Amino acid sequence: MSQNGNSPTVIRVAVPVPLRRGFDYRLPAGMDAAQCPPGVRVRVPFGPRKLVGVVLESPARSELPPGRLRPLVEVLDDAPLLDAEMLAFLQWAAGYYHHPVGEAIQHALPALLRKGGAAEGRAETRWYVTPAGAAVDPAVALSRAPRQAALLTELQAAGEAGLDSAHFAQGHATWRTPLARLEDAGLLARRQRLPVQHGQGDAGPTLHAEQRAAVDAVVAAMAGERGGGQFLLDGITGSGKTEVYLHAIQQAVDAGRQALVLVPEIGLTPQLLRRFGHRLAARITALHSGLSDTERLSAWLAAARGEVDVIIGTRSAVFTPLARPGLFIVDEEHDPSLKQQDGFRYHARDLALVRAHRAGVPVVLGSATPSLESLHQVTTGRATRLVLSRRAGEAGLPRFRVLDVRRQPFDGALSPLMHEAVAAHLAAGNQVLLFLNRRGFAPALMCHDCGWIAHCQRCDSHLTLHRGEGRLRCHHCGAERPLVEQCGECDNTELLSVGLGTERIEAQLQAHYPDHEILRVDRDTTRRKGSLDAILERARGGGARILVGTQMLAKGHHFPDVTLVGIVDADQGLYSADFRGPERMAQTILQVAGRAGRAEKPGEVVIQTHQPDNPLLMTLMRDGYAPFAEALMAERREAGWPPFSHLALLRAEAPGREAPLTFLQRARQLAEGLRPAGVDLLGPLPAPMERRAGRYRAQLLVQARERRPLHALLARWLPQLEAAPWAREVRWSIDIDPQDMF
Ligand code: ADP
Ligand code: ZN
Ligand code: ZN
Repeated sequence: MSQNGNSPTVIRVAVPVPLRRGFDYRLPAGMDAAQCPPGVRVRVPFGPRKLVGVVLESPARSELPPGRLRPLVEVLDDAPLLDAEMLAFLQWAAGYYHHPVGEAIQHALPALLRKGGAAEGRAETRWYVTPAGAAVDPAVALSRAPRQAALLTELQAAGEAGLDSAHFAQGHATWRTPLARLEDAGLLARRQRLPVQHGQGDAGPTLHAEQRAAVDAVVAAMAGERGGGQFLLDGITGSGKTEVYLHAIQQAVDAGRQALVLVPEIGLTPQLLRRFGHRLAARITALHSGLSDTERLSAWLAAARGEVDVIIGTRSAVFTPLARPGLFIVDEEHDPSLKQQDGFRYHARDLALVRAHRAGVPVVLGSATPSLESLHQVTTGRATRLVLSRRAGEAGLPRFRVLDVRRQPFDGALSPLMHEAVAAHLAAGNQVLLFLNRRGFAPALMCHDCGWIAHCQRCDSHLTLHRGEGRLRCHHCGAERPLVEQCGECDNTELLSVGLGTERIEAQLQAHYPDHEILRVDRDTTRRKGSLDAILERARGGGARILVGTQMLAKGHHFPDVTLVGIVDADQGLYSADFRGPERMAQTILQVAGRAGRAEKPGEVVIQTHQPDNPLLMTLMRDGYAPFAEALMAERREAGWPPFSHLALLRAEAPGREAPLTFLQRARQLAEGLRPAGVDLLGPLPAPMERRAGRYRAQLLVQARERRPLHALLARWLPQLEAAPWAREVRWSIDIDPQDMF
């Protein structure tokens, strides 16, 4: 790293290629090393291509002979984009996840910087509907101007996020003139927008004692000598966790520091952003999916330069550089969407812990249903648990009722008792919410005569019937075809839809309550950008008394009039092959249950199951999450699953059935020779769904009580796999701390 004296000519670059190392280049003649410090982007030759990489260091010499060092093409930045700490953190993360460092760093950069664009933020014009524009029905008011009607419809759906010219240019041949007409008519407005919101700093409710204690603990850690500290904010839905975040964030901001807030994919709602905007006296930026690439870059740069105080985003926001880090918050820390499931398979919660620790600042993980990993951190003394034990404000706790649906007359979806409950709550003028984590009409279509089932050609899976659209769809690979009228085996035309999806529940309820509007919320009804927000607004408005949906309905939304939550099928998680199945089931049930009775009205949660005697389910219903989690923890300890061991999963896939198994068998033999004591290999085994999207998949599990020997093995094993010619027969990947065992 010596930058002075004999000026180094070797530059080691993280290049975005799937190889687990940096690559050496030399500076072109006439350039000096000071112009190429760690953290700047450079364009380098790589084979026949030119790629954008990031300088890692300037080693004294290269392992390559000088004659083979190629010169880099150009330096793209005047100053480092990533400071030394961020660069070190990213290298650590790449090392921990055994992911190629170039790809990991690439992942942390906004798209425009990845492509080599200039590191400059720019305000950008966006169009929004005005209140007048939101109120008109385009089909009626603009029936003679179809182009304007189409544009207005899109803008209405986009809501507060608005739309930019790039969006219009993609979908419309002519858009400038119709937009101008709409603007003249007062239906739209345009704004130059930097993606930074200036919060108002309104006063919130007075904190109750437990909230106060939680805020004090975090603030004390912020001010403490050593700084830092890990907290688990454990509070039921509606107990006021967000208020605790808001107070702690404000204190961090007042002390001149920045706060980074991570939320799950479904949690980043306009409602949440509005609340942060009202309450914080701070400059806030949100990294949501509605941002254009330019806005994303502006937000990223503003964070890096310290021009914003609060950054809110989903998992990838954990890589946002911060000039003055002061506080990290992970809301719904148990949520699976915090883990990236392909490519760079990191867990944003775990990386937030590491970042906070390195920066010496506190980190708060919040949840109503903490992960067993986080509870274990409390048990082992690494984290402090802060408990909010009751609901804030007026709202009471919902009452739970388990419905044994065995041998009950079924109309295909809801048992008579569930129907009674729905009718009672509707009669009282309240809203009801029915939850089922499966979209479509029915998960299978079966011949009544011969038992034939419509299968996906490319997966080991049934096709889901989508009746409204008249399609059969595979939810694993996206394949679809028109609804068949005849059995594929015997030509019988009597085909049965087997099982339940949200569309079917909607249809059944509509038949029962022809006069009620029913809102269905799942990936099928919210496919268009902005439509989820629009539907949720309608749901809160209360016009629709019946809400039916998947987990999209479950998180972070307040429905003050919902008093009944019906869980249509609690059995899915109980049968799961994955050791995390019961944990996820409980988290989902309680998350959905948390939608009931948030205001003055007491709520009721009714759960249908075929296993009313299941001990775990009983513990959950009778005693709540904490005793349930303890019971589960005992099972995990017994079985040696995380958090009592550490896992890595080597996955392989190929077009043929044998290749992945053969690869994993050889990989296993290789590992046997390297394996330190205390590391076990399990498998190879075919994946639970062996064939998916036309490829066969298998896996080998690596398990160890201690992290160190596990990582020591991986560090020696993976480079050998990378180099092995026989490994080219398959596509393989390593997943550290896998969250899904498939
Ligand atoms: P959580 O994040 O745990 O779900 P919130 O912070 O969103 O809980 O609080 C739930 C509701 O209770 C919100 O409407 C919030 O404004 C209100 N609330 C929170 N803390 C208090 C308090 N101390 N006094 C009165 N109302 C509160
Ligand atoms: Zn048949
Ligand atoms: Zn498929």
